[in-house]
Amino acid sequence: MTELSGQKPSSETVDALVTELASIVGPKGWTTDPEVLAPRLEERRGLFHGATPIMVSPATTAEVSQVVRACAAANVPVVPQGGNTGLCGGAVPNESGSEVLLSLHRLNRIREIDPASNSMTVEAGCILADLQAAANEAGRLFPLSLAAEGSCQIGGNISTNAGGTAVLRYGNARELVLGLEVVLPDGQIWDGLRKLRKDNTGYDLKQIFIGSEGTLGIVTAAVLRLFPRPRSVVTAFVGMRDVDSALSLLNETRSCCGDSITGFELISRRCLEFCLQHIPGTRNPLEGEHAWYVLVELQSGIAGVGLRNSAEEAFATAFESDVIQDATIAENESQALAFWKIRESLPEAELHEGGSIKHDVSVPLPDIPAFIDQASEAVEKVLPGVRVVAFGHLGDGNIHFNVAQPEGDDKDAYLAKWGFVNEIVHGIVGSFDGSISAEHGLGRLKRDEVRHYKSPLEIDLMEKLKAAMDPDGMLNPGKVVR
Ligand SMILES: Cc1cc2nc3c(=O)[nH]c(=O)nc-3n(C[C@H](O)[C@H](O)[C@H](O)COP(=O)(O)OP(=O)(O)OC[C@H]3O[C@@H](n4cnc5c(N)ncnc54)[C@H](O)[C@@H]3O)c2cc1C
Repeated sequence: MTELSGQKPSSETVDALVTELASIVGPKGWTTDPEVLAPRLEERRGLFHGATPIMVSPATTAEVSQVVRACAAANVPVVPQGGNTGLCGGAVPNESGSEVLLSLHRLNRIREIDPASNSMTVEAGCILADLQAAANEAGRLFPLSLAAEGSCQIGGNISTNAGGTAVLRYGNARELVLGLEVVLPDGQIWDGLRKLRKDNTGYDLKQIFIGSEGTLGIVTAAVLRLFPRPRSVVTAFVGMRDVDSALSLLNETRSCCGDSITGFELISRRCLEFCLQHIPGTRNPLEGEHAWYVLVELQSGIAGVGLRNSAEEAFATAFESDVIQDATIAENESQALAFWKIRESLPEAELHEGGSIKHDVSVPLPDIPAFIDQASEAVEKVLPGVRVVAFGHLGDGNIHFNVAQPEGDDKDAYLAKWGFVNEIVHGIVGSFDGSISAEHGLGRLKRDEVRHYKSPLEIDLMEKLKAAMDPDGMLNPGKVVR
């Protein structure tokens, strides 16, 4: 996908800026090596390829600020990048070669873990999995968890308001942030690193930056909420006839187990088959065949068998009332991990089946069965032979509705239909008053399309916010808003 924004600065300006940036960040903090840059300039699914005169990797907030100031003075935009696992082209510069890429990976210190206030203060470039481990070592839980956690960074998670597998219980990144430190588009540093749970002193500025995909400020550090570590965990794999039954099971489990449900992941039979076929070491946890599966995870701060007893009661009631057909509860951690491996390998398994046109959408919970039915029927009608691959965080109303190419078709020819298929599926999402981007954001991929699904007033307010905070379009131009 190609599209340029902004005017290209002169080569003299860019050369002078490169020299200035190199002196700000020192020899370890920059590169123009095409081999090092190549993976940083490509969106993970290959949908966007960019160019840049330099990648800078500041090691301190002060350096980020100086870099941004220098770029603003030269009128050269900056594109912040974390782990580059985002899936909408937000972290990749455009093709003009006139945007500076700013990687946060060297800003990776844990500044403080404060168990008494159940918080930790961390820099934006910390890898998510490292933060989970650090919290665990301190006897606490940092619950944000997603399949990209080994490479995504907390700054990227915050900037995309990432969700993941435990939203049902702990919320999105938005609910996990107490305070932020942000470098603004003119280079000023906003120190909002507060640990307060209650602070009603006007606009909640941190929320403006969370989910703004690097278009309003560069997150350099955050105060994150920590939770007690769970003392009992139940992980189950359940088979059922249809998605309505999965929703009934969610209600039944809520009645028996309250808010201990942390994960409720829907998996279609086709997804499971792809996984068993392509991911070594996976096996079907259940004996028979079922049209749909749910991976349920429950956690409690109380040790003992109480949680398991409640889960068994919920599944027994659901079984007796014909809501579910079979269920198995993991007997130990390795079985639980095997269940999760199935869920987390689904995107990788899908890669082996050729091209897939993706939709990361949400609709109100009760409408999920109708959405899946209507969208499946619509795409199968216009493109016979396509294979619907539906899975996702059912408890949050968030479905990855992917449409895999017909077997044997040409991949590139199929992927050229991306926009056409999106229009059909997103149209149905819109009819349920849902969201065309439940998780991944807008970036460049959905920036224009979202205009069909938000009111002109909402778009106008978003554009006014961008213009007020970044009047010269210095931060991540062309992403989220025009
Ligand atoms: C296998 C896989 C599974 C995923 N699962 C989920 C999931 O379950 N739930 C979910 O919500 N998302 C999921 N995602 C997408 C998710 O948005 C990203 O994985 C993650 O949150 C992005 O972090 P990152 O560090 O890679 O950011 P990047 O991809 O580098 O950047 C994402 C956006 O944030 C901006 N940005 C990055 N760092 C900063 C910063 N410090 N300050 C300002 N802006 C910044 C970038 O400019 C870009 O616009 C998944 C992605 C993959 C590949």
